[in-house]
This record gives sequence, structure tokens and C-alpha cells, in this order.
Amino acid sequence: MDKDIIVEHRSHLLGHGMNFVANIPTVFHCHHFNLFWDQTIDDALGHELSCRIRTAAAREVFHDILAGLVTSAGASTPEERLELARTVFAAFGQGALTLDVSAAGGAALGRPLHYSHTWLEKYGGWIRRNTPADALAAGFAAAATEVAFGLPRESVQAVEHSCVARRDRECTFELSVGDATSVAGPMGRLQVERAMTDPVQGLLEDQVAPIEAGLREFSRGMLGDDRGLIQAFGLFATQTPSTYYNRSGYDALRHVNRTAPQSAPVMKALLREAGHVCVFSTFGGVLLSPEWEAMVGPIRGEPDEILAGSLAIARALGFGHWCAGEFEPGQRLVLQTPGGYESAYYVSREGRATEPMCFVLQGAALAIMQLIERVPWAERPTLNQEFYNQLFRNGLPWQAEETQCVSRGDPMCEVVVSRREPGNGVL
Ligand SMILES: [Zn+2]
Repeated sequence: MDKDIIVEHRSHLLGHGMNFVANIPTVFHCHHFNLFWDQTIDDALGHELSCRIRTAAAREVFHDILAGLVTSAGASTPEERLELARTVFAAFGQGALTLDVSAAGGAALGRPLHYSHTWLEKYGGWIRRNTPADALAAGFAAAATEVAFGLPRESVQAVEHSCVARRDRECTFELSVGDATSVAGPMGRLQVERAMTDPVQGLLEDQVAPIEAGLREFSRGMLGDDRGLIQAFGLFATQTPSTYYNRSGYDALRHVNRTAPQSAPVMKALLREAGHVCVFSTFGGVLLSPEWEAMVGPIRGEPDEILAGSLAIARALGFGHWCAGEFEPGQRLVLQTPGGYESAYYVSREGRATEPMCFVLQGAALAIMQLIERVPWAERPTLNQEFYNQLFRNGLPWQAEETQCVSRGDPMCEVVVSRREPGNGVL
């Protein structure tokens, strides 16, 4: 089975910056964002509930992707379907997964897996971890077993018993078949198209569009290597169905609102911080990469250049058709988009919001202003944790407010970044 099956099934919604595999929305994120996102859910819910929610989110959406791909590839036997599942997992940069399963369940083994491998690399030197890190792989293994043997959706449970992030030799999973639970409504290309509003126009479009096209072409061919990992731009990347992030994030937030509403603002702030982590690591990493230099030229650090580059990166990676509505260097940035991967999910699954709900977008807009104003690009800085802390955990000079949100019924999502007023606690 060839990983090119993923390339063949990658598609894009023009003018909306949405990416799909087998008509399921996907997005590229880096390991810094991925680990931060999972940790945020763990912190909010405790590891056990968080792990359950994240596993279920992965199982749901990978079932959709695998079911679509086995049909179009004509994979009819369980062996063919499991082989296809292993190929898909590796192509997405999620790692190498061996599935030893039957219609009654079984076992899975991962080495390496994106989450535990990168956790160990990033934190292993100074933190000891006791909980497994691969809920996404667990959910994937469950979905692959369901699809391979034609089992009911949401009927296979998967638990990770040993994990490389815990310094076990390898990651092992136990799969068991139980009663099917209810299936949420579909979350595919059709739902995304319905949730999107009319395309918006922004500044610097003549600079953004060609870079966007080049990056899209580049990312179209981005696949896991022999280890099943995507290592590019100085980081590990994954292509992940956006429902994994959305369902885990919004389910967790709903749980916090119900059980500990006083903690909800903290959780929202952490979801916004995931946007800071994403832009600092991924957007920054792309801008400083040899790949960027070959495609666009050496980075000079001019405000328009960093802004146009950031918008192009967001569109190509599948975040949405981000546009600059207004831009005044050093003062104000208005980022507009006809929805994004967060609002597409929210509108389809959660209904009408009473407040803006695109937390990653909010954090990302603020972080783009930080990249423009506070990174000495000409010095080619190293984007490490120390520099991140200095930029983002040392008093932010900006505030960001999502003033319009498609999830709330507005005609677009709009985030206004402006200078932080003294004493204003808005993030
Ligand atoms: Zn929004």
C-alpha cells in the first residue's frame, strides 16, 4: 500500500483555506501545539476523562476517513484494510502502528508515535511522566479495527498500557469490543461548506496568494517518512482531522462550564495560548526554514512580509482563508476570515454560540502581531522555549478580541489585535 493514496485524496476548498482527506476536514499542526492541546484538556478534566474524550474524538473521525478510503481503494479483506490503516497513520505523520487484531479485539503496538516520541524529546530531560500520551493513536487503532472487521461504529475500546513517554520500551494498546455508543452527526466537507460564509478580501493579496499557492503545493506532498513521522521546518508536524481538536476542546469546555464554571476563563485562556504556541512554533518555523528561503527568498523581517507570509501559511495548512482587514504596524491588526476549522465544527455540531468561540484563531492573531513586532528576523533567532517564554509569558503588549464570529451567526470571524490598555485583562 502506497502513501500516495493520501496525496490522491487530499483536497481543498478554494477561497476558504480548508483542507480535506477523503472529504474529512484536516489541518497541519506541529508537535508543540499538539502536546499543548492535549495537556490543556488533561489539566481541565484530569487525565482519565481527558484521555477518554480524546480517544473517542480520534476514533470517531478516523472511522470516517478510513471508511471512505477503504471504499475508494477497494480494500475488502480485513488484512487489506488494516494495511491501509497503517499506511494512512504513517502518511499523516502520526507514527508507526502495528495492529494485531480480530473481530474480537486484540492489541496494537506503536513505535514511534508522534505524541510520545515528541513529548519525550521536548520534556523528557526534565519532567517525569506517569500517564500515557497517545490517545489519538488509541482512537485510531479502535477505528481501524471497526472498519477492518465491519464492526459497529463506536464499539471498540482502546487503552494504552505502556508508553514511551513514560519511559516504557514501546507503546502498547489493548483493544476490546463492547456495546456501540451513539454516533454524533457527520462532520465532513458538506458540513464545512454549509458553515462557511462568503469569501472576504484583504490587504496584501498580491503577496499572499502566490505564497499560499506554493505552500499548498509543498504541503500536498508532505507525508510521514520511514518512521511515520513528518519532520520539517525544524519541528514534527502531523496532518490531523480537525474534529480531533474541536471535539476534545469543546467537549472539555462544556464539561468545565457544567462542573467548575469558575475555571472556564482559565481554560479559554489556555486554548488561546495554544494559538500562540502554534504561530510561534509552526509559522515562525516555516518563515525561518530553508524551504521558505528556496520558495520565497530570505526573510527580511518587514511587517508586510511577515503578515503576508503568516496569512499564506494559515491558508495552506488548513486553518481558514485568513485576510488582513486592517493593518497598522505597531498599532493594530484586524484579521478576518469566512470561518475556519473551529467555527465549521461549532456551527455544525454545537449550534449557535452566545459568544465568539474560535480560541485558536484569537491566540494566533495576537501571536502574528508578536511575530511582526518582536522577533528580530534578520538575526535568525532560535525559536526555543526560552524565547517563547520571553515573548509570551512576560507581559503581552497586545490584546486580542474576536469581535465577530461565524459560530455566533456573524458574517465572518474577525479578531482585532490592538495595544493592551493598562489594567485591561483581556487576552
Ligand atoms: Zn469565530
